[in-house]
Amino acid sequence: MNLSDKKILVTGGAGFIGSNLCEVLLEKKNRVVCLDNFATGKRENVKDLQSNPNFKLIEGDIRNLEDCKVAVSKVDYVLHQAALGSVPRSIKDPITTNDVNVSGFLNMLVASRDAGVKRFVYAASSSTYGDSESLPKVEDVIGKPLSPYAITKYVNELYADVFSKTYGLETVGLRYFNVFGRKQDPNGAYAAVIPKFVKQFMNGKSPVINGDGNYSRDFTYIDNVIQANILALVTNNPKAVNTVYNVAFGERNTLNELVGYLREVLSKLDPSINNVKIEYGPNRQGDIPHSLASINKAEKLLNYKPQFSLQKGLKEAVQWYWENL
Ligand code: NAD
Repeated sequence: MNLSDKKILVTGGAGFIGSNLCEVLLEKKNRVVCLDNFATGKRENVKDLQSNPNFKLIEGDIRNLEDCKVAVSKVDYVLHQAALGSVPRSIKDPITTNDVNVSGFLNMLVASRDAGVKRFVYAASSSTYGDSESLPKVEDVIGKPLSPYAITKYVNELYADVFSKTYGLETVGLRYFNVFGRKQDPNGAYAAVIPKFVKQFMNGKSPVINGDGNYSRDFTYIDNVIQANILALVTNNPKAVNTVYNVAFGERNTLNELVGYLREVLSKLDPSINNVKIEYGPNRQGDIPHSLASINKAEKLLNYKPQFSLQKGLKEAVQWYWENL
């Protein structure tokens, strides 16, 4: 199927991943509705889209069923990205995280079911692997959640599965692994590690690694995530829907390696960054030592072929921060 001339709702469309999705869908000549309450999203992320007649911004809250119903009206597909991210945020305030990520998710499922949406693709999370130590992570082998955030993302998968079986709503869950790239917020207590470190390096401040830097992650560039979302929307393979997929590059790098690559790319733009020292702090609660995805399932069923390794993605991301921060 060719993805154009469709009406697609992106919830959380003013956020990092959502705004990138909105942009690409508009480029492909779809009509895009963005539902966001700007809890963590930014107006500047959608500023350039607002002059496009095919883009509609609805300022609303997924905790409010009416807002969800309005947003989903006459929509073909939903890409549900709205949620409160961050493990530490959920440890500090589990109630709000649960309200948004679980009740809000359920509202979106109900509204999508009632509006006859053709497919509901949603942001799941690698945090669902919890305390499972097996590597690489395969979709069927999960452990116990290690944070309130992880519980909410697992509950999303359970609800989606029940809505597929009970009401026939087609769903696809995409378990993102440590996504990074343009428009990701470098500021605030809950900023993700890559934009935070880029900004600190650029300001000559020492990045602080939690632990000894040997923890590893499957860092995933935004364009790989966009590819997975589009493939999840267009697949007409019945075996490919009503299930969940890892969305990652399929390699892992330690935090020390990450910082080394960042320094390499950034010091070409400003040689003084070579002198910035790295600091080490305590390990963070709820963090697992290593994370690496098997992407076999997405490769096989969705024809997913990620094009950006960590190093290739970092070059693009750093250039964007250099020009935009
Ligand atoms: P983000 O914070 O940039 O985007 C989330 C968006 O949701 C924001 O624009 C925010 O304002 C919006 N939102 C929050 N609460 C809302 C509410 N009650 N009503 C309407 N909108 C609301 O985060 P992101 O990194 O773009 O994450 C997008 C999705 O991907 C989230 O579901 C997140 O849990 C998931 N995810 C992200 C990563 C990652 O590495 N970034 C990894 C795994 C899963």
